[in-house]
Amino acid sequence: MDEKGISEEELFAELCSFSDADTNFKKVFSSMCTIPHPVAVAAQQQFSLSNIGDPGLFRGTCEMEAEVIRMSASMLNHPDPKSAFGHLTSGGTESNIEAVLHMKNRFFSSGFNSGFNSDSDSDSNSGFNSDSNSNSDFNSNSFQSRLNLILPKTAHFSFEKIANLLGIELKKAEIDSNFRVIPESMESLINENTIGLIGIAGSTEFGECDPIEELSEIAVKHKLPLHIDAAFGGFIYPFLDSCSNSDIHSNIHGDAHSNHRSNVRFAFDLPGVTSVSVDPHKMGLSVIPAGILIFRDESVLGSSLDKIKVKTPYLTSKYQSTLTGTRPGSSVAAAYAVMKHLGAEGYRKNVSYCMDLVNHFQKELEKIGLKPCIFPRINIVAVSIGSGINETADYEKTEKIRAQLLEKYGWNVSATKTIPALRFVLMPHVTKEDISALIFDLGKLLQE
Ligand code: PLP
Repeated sequence: MDEKGISEEELFAELCSFSDADTNFKKVFSSMCTIPHPVAVAAQQQFSLSNIGDPGLFRGTCEMEAEVIRMSASMLNHPDPKSAFGHLTSGGTESNIEAVLHMKNRFFSSGFNSGFNSDSDSDSNSGFNSDSNSNSDFNSNSFQSRLNLILPKTAHFSFEKIANLLGIELKKAEIDSNFRVIPESMESLINENTIGLIGIAGSTEFGECDPIEELSEIAVKHKLPLHIDAAFGGFIYPFLDSCSNSDIHSNIHGDAHSNHRSNVRFAFDLPGVTSVSVDPHKMGLSVIPAGILIFRDESVLGSSLDKIKVKTPYLTSKYQSTLTGTRPGSSVAAAYAVMKHLGAEGYRKNVSYCMDLVNHFQKELEKIGLKPCIFPRINIVAVSIGSGINETADYEKTEKIRAQLLEKYGWNVSATKTIPALRFVLMPHVTKEDISALIFDLGKLLQE
């Protein structure tokens, strides 16, 4: 830091040059975030000094957080939204970390599923359970490597971080031709060291929703917690009902069930679903950072909450049981503002706008002889541009075209890992004109 500060004038000139180097979301088809709603931005500013990590000082923000949890639980079909238990996080990654941390704690304290952990309610039996901070058995890598989490192959990369952080093994279940997890594959991976299951509503690469009804049955049968990662799809799937099906049926795999954009069941109306994460800073139209993690109720956590609960002597609350300490009350206010302001009707319109973009996108694609790899259930469209004969060559071509779209024309698109395909996320900042221009440029590149 320099000894002397600079004037406000100089400073803001500098800031302008930094912000000019950032995107304003024009020509961005790769991001799952978008331009936040103006009421969210205004609320964020109004509550810029609020710290929800010190609830006694920010009682108003606390009330708003409780209401955001209640509204979200209701959006997620909770039979009794008031009994839902949760809080705001920085986004999908933090929500997933915390959900899995609770699975791990719960595994040790509940005793099911485990040959070596047979005394169901005894913390003392396991030894490693009585004091998670000090017991070396609990922390030993050899022991922890035996725990596993079962998740679809298509799960977000945040789970790779979680595996590393919590010392658990990821067991990845197979997916079908529509990139949804195969429930039988999930079930076949369960063993005595399984701490829980993950399902996805709105996968990062394809926007697909796993068959959560079946996963819920498996979770109930094996008494395992089931966390649904709806970071992206949580503000989409509940509002899809009103969207008309595309008039272009581009399903490649001939699965009759996959050509519908009707509501799917993925949340708390299914008895096996223990927790759901959903991000206001994605399709929730709120500001960054904002994630929401909701548990069905406090009891599903067992004694896990006690395990991460710490005394907070210098704060206004006695204990803290969230992963992070200081948390932005401004994000709570922003999420509250946009959810209250838009209501279900507003989110339905938002989703409908995006799905209209999807239909337009498909029509434009047809003009250059392309179609989506799978019927786009939500506003993510994956398009193969390779020959389908040589996978390595297809990956190379996809990457080359992706890079050229950016270098020659300034379009930001991404590529999928699961198959060689370009991936387009049609967020609310996109227009039909943008789509037509992008596809026109793509067509030119493919002809070169
Ligand atoms: N889960 C899913 C399905 C996602 O698509 C993403 C991000 O794109 C995340 C989790 C991680 O969210 P964040 O980047 O907000 O931590």
